Amino acid sequence: MTDKLAPEATVVIVGAGLGGVRVAENLRAGGHTGPVVMIGAEAHPPYDRPPLSKKVLTEAIGRVDLKADEFYADSSIDLRMGERVASVDPGAKSVTVTKADGTSYTQDYDALVLATGLLPRPFPGVAGVDGVFTLRTVEDAQRIAEAASAGGQAVVIGAGFIGCEVAASLHTLGLAVTLVEPAPTPLAQAVGTQIGALVTRQHVEKGVDVRAGIGVDEIVAEAGKVIGVRLSDGTLVDADLVVVGIGSTPVVDYLDGSGIELASREVGGGVACNEVGRAGVDGVYALGDMANWRDHGGTQRRAEHWNHTVEQAAIVAAALLGTDHAVVPAVPYFWSDQYDLKIQVLGWPKPDDDVHIVDDDGHKWLAYFSRDGMLTAVAGAGKIGAVMKTRPKLVTPTPIADVLA
Ligand SMILES: Cc1cc2nc3c(=O)[nH]c(=O)nc-3n(C[C@H](O)[C@H](O)[C@H](O)COP(=O)(O)OP(=O)(O)OC[C@H]3O[C@@H](n4cnc5c(N)ncnc54)[C@H](O)[C@@H]3O)c2cc1C
Repeated sequence: MTDKLAPEATVVIVGAGLGGVRVAENLRAGGHTGPVVMIGAEAHPPYDRPPLSKKVLTEAIGRVDLKADEFYADSSIDLRMGERVASVDPGAKSVTVTKADGTSYTQDYDALVLATGLLPRPFPGVAGVDGVFTLRTVEDAQRIAEAASAGGQAVVIGAGFIGCEVAASLHTLGLAVTLVEPAPTPLAQAVGTQIGALVTRQHVEKGVDVRAGIGVDEIVAEAGKVIGVRLSDGTLVDADLVVVGIGSTPVVDYLDGSGIELASREVGGGVACNEVGRAGVDGVYALGDMANWRDHGGTQRRAEHWNHTVEQAAIVAAALLGTDHAVVPAVPYFWSDQYDLKIQVLGWPKPDDDVHIVDDDGHKWLAYFSRDGMLTAVAGAGKIGAVMKTRPKLVTPTPIADVLA
């Protein structure tokens, strides 16, 4: 069931990041003529996050805006930056918005789209310690780049995609980098240990000190400045700067008391939605990193991927416009640039899926994932064509035997 918008309906979008911008753009492209209000908590126009762990660090390129400034006025999108939605009242169909000066106002909606992204999980006990960073915003990236400009030793805690990219970027900048990960390999939670070993190989070859299978007991500071990281075996790794990449949590605090249902932590949390992003409350949709969609097999899942957000934005807009009958289900896609290699993952790999490495020249590689004999995902490094051409096989159920034949 969809909420086909009346032409004059007001759509309020909470969160002016990738998901919010793409929904607004799709609504206008689809012919919606009513007001589109986009409320964003950050101070500057919507920008892209993937460069933050890559070129914003290595080449100091600054913020990469998602759209030219005039796009919003030209598209009649009422962009309100520096404002935060504090609460949602689905009964009254309104949101309460807090402005930068502390004053508040109420904004009514006919349809509400939530796209508020994630907050990085902080390392406990180091609030305010100089030289310890998380990475989500352009300000975070600029602070890391500034600290890195002094050179020295960096420790990256957590070898997920962002941790691995930051390690590669800091190494590229000439720092001595230690990458610490409690799982047996980097990326183990995302793609399992066999692929994790291939990623480890790449970092080790470059000279990054990868300490996998070991936890961090504490970040050690002296006079308010970080000096090292104590590993769970007692080793102290010296550090001039520490980047913490130990996961993120969906931004849903403003939904307290709204009755909008959240998915359980076991399935990734975030706002629980159906296959087109509709939350369990009339007229409310969610997408992007903070949304937990039901897939066409009935499983609730949350992805933190750029392309997935873009696909979801098209689906949400189509649902609002009543044109979602033509929509192709989203297949999650993630890329990660580490050194000279583009790693790509398409599909829903699980760490305990069967992994079939079909190509590995010591640098570039290609692997398929399967479960119960069916293809679940493909991953590759430096194998763009092979990865992307697997997409149709992930949209419809495909036996792994057909892929390997
Ligand atoms: C460092 C980094 C590197 C990445 N690299 C890759 C990559 O290589 N490949 C890939 O596929 N993906 C990558 N991603 C993920 C990708 O950027 C995200 O999937 C994408 O940004 C999700 O968009 P979103 O709109 O859901 O959230 P966001 O882009 O985070 O936008 C959410 C916005 O909502 C705002 N907001 C939050 N609460 C409120 C509120 N109450 N009121 C108003 N506004 C609010 C936030 O301030 C934020 O601006 C990366 C992410 C990061 C952080």
